Amino acid sequence: MADIVVLGAGLGGTIMAYELIDQLGPDDRLTLIGQEARFHFVPSNPWVAIGWREREQIEIDLAPVLARRNVRFLDQGAKRVHPQDNRIEMNTGEDVTYDYLVVATGPELAFDEIPGLGPEGETNSICHVSHAVKTHEAFEALAAKPGPIIVGAVQGASCFGPAYEFALILDTELRRRKLRDKVPMTFVTAEPYIGHLGLDGVGDTKGLLESEFRNRHIKWITNAKVASVAAGAMKVEEMADGGVVARTHDLPFSFSMMLPAFRGVAAVRGIEGLTNPRGFVLIDKHQRNPAFPNIFAIGVCVAIPPIGPTPVPVGVPKTGFMIESMVTATARNIGALLRGGQPKTEATWNAVCLADFGDTGIAFVAEPQIPPRNVNWSAKGKWVHTAKAGFEKYFIHKVKKGESEPFYERLVMERLGIRKLKETAD
Ligand code: FAD
Repeated sequence: MADIVVLGAGLGGTIMAYELIDQLGPDDRLTLIGQEARFHFVPSNPWVAIGWREREQIEIDLAPVLARRNVRFLDQGAKRVHPQDNRIEMNTGEDVTYDYLVVATGPELAFDEIPGLGPEGETNSICHVSHAVKTHEAFEALAAKPGPIIVGAVQGASCFGPAYEFALILDTELRRRKLRDKVPMTFVTAEPYIGHLGLDGVGDTKGLLESEFRNRHIKWITNAKVASVAAGAMKVEEMADGGVVARTHDLPFSFSMMLPAFRGVAAVRGIEGLTNPRGFVLIDKHQRNPAFPNIFAIGVCVAIPPIGPTPVPVGVPKTGFMIESMVTATARNIGALLRGGQPKTEATWNAVCLADFGDTGIAFVAEPQIPPRNVNWSAKGKWVHTAKAGFEKYFIHKVKKGESEPFYERLVMERLGIRKLKETAD
C-alpha cells in the first residue's frame, strides 16, 4: 500500500489528483491538500474583475467531487514540508505522511517586494478570485469617476498574458460604456518589447499586440522597473542594458492593476535540495526532484530558468496546457514507480494560449517553449473570445465531474498536432 499526496488544490493539483486515481493499485491511498474549500478557475479572474462573471460562476465545491472519486481532501493547508521525514506539517499541527508527494502549490505573490504594490497597497490584482472581486469594486468606482489607468506586470513577473488580457478587456468595457475618451491608459511592463510574454514572443505577438495597443490608444513603457507606488502615483524607471536608468516616469493613476513577481510558497521555500533560492521546486525531465526522488512538482511552483538576459528580469510563464502536460507525465511516472518500474515520461511543456480581448483575442502555440521552435504560431480573431468562453465552461465542467482529459479533448489536440508527452512509458 502506498500513500500518495498532492499538495495544492488549484488548477494543476486538482487535475493531478484526477489523473493519479487511474494509476493507483487497490490498496493505495490518494490525498489532496488544499487551503480553501473551493476551487476557482484562475483564467476567468479578469472577467470577474470587470463584472463579466460572478465569483460563484467560476467556483466549485471540491469536497463532494473528491469524495465521489475516493480522494481524501484536507483543506486546512500545509505549514511546512519535511522531505527528510516524508511528512507534511499541517496548519492544524497534525502531520500527513506520504510515500510519494506532488507539489502543486502555485505561486506566492511577491507584492511586498515593491512599496505600495498590491491589494493591501495601492494597486489591484486579479491573481486570486477574492482579489478580482475587490478589483471589480475599484473598477466601478473608476467608471463613476473616470481618470487615468495603469495596467501591466512588474520586474520579475512571469505571467504577462493576463496583463494584456486585462488591459484590452478594460478598453472594450470602457468603450461599451462610452467612457473610454475620459480614461488615458498606459501599459507598464518589465518585458523588453510588447508581446515578448516571457517567451521572446510567439509567432508575431510583437506585431499583433503593438498594433492592438496602437489601435486602442494604449501607450506603453517597456523595460520598466516599478520603483514604488503611492496613492494615485506610480514611479517607474525605464531601464537600459547594464542596470542603467534611461528615464524615470511619475505616472498618475485613478485605477491600476499590476501583476506581481512570483516566488515559491512558504511551505517549501528554503528547503535545501528541494527548492531554488526563489522557492521554486527543482525538478528533472520527469518532473522529479533530484534530491528527494519521491517528490514531484507541477505547475507554477516549478523552477524554470528565464529564456535569456533582459534589461529588467522577466520570468517564463507556465500556462494551462503546459501544466496539464506536466500533470499527465507525473501521473504516468508515479504510476510506473507504483508498479515497480521507473519514470520515463516527459512533458512537452508546450505553450498553448488563448488571450481574450473582450471582442477579439489572440491565440498562440510555441513548441518547444525556447526558440528556435518547430511550431511558432500566433493569430488574431473574434473566434478566440468565443473559444476562451467555451474552454472556461468545458474546464469547469471537467473539474465538477472529477475527470481530467476526456477522449474528445485528446482528439482535438491530436488533430491540431499538439502533443502533451514526449515519450510514453507504458
Ligand atoms: P494555482 O492554480 O495557483 O494553484 C495552487 C494552489 O495551491 C492554490 O489553490 C493554493 O491555495 C494552494 N496552496 C498554496 N500553498 C498551499 C499550502 N501551503 N497548503 C495547501 N495549499 C496551498 N494560463 C493559461 O494557460 N491560460 C489563461 O488564460 C491563464 N490565465 C491566467 C490568469 C491569471 C490572472 C493568472 C494569475 C494566471 C493565468 N494563467 C493562465 C496561468 C496559469 O494557468 C494559472 O496561474 C494556474 O492557476 C496555475 O496553476 P497551478 O496549479 O500551478 O497554481
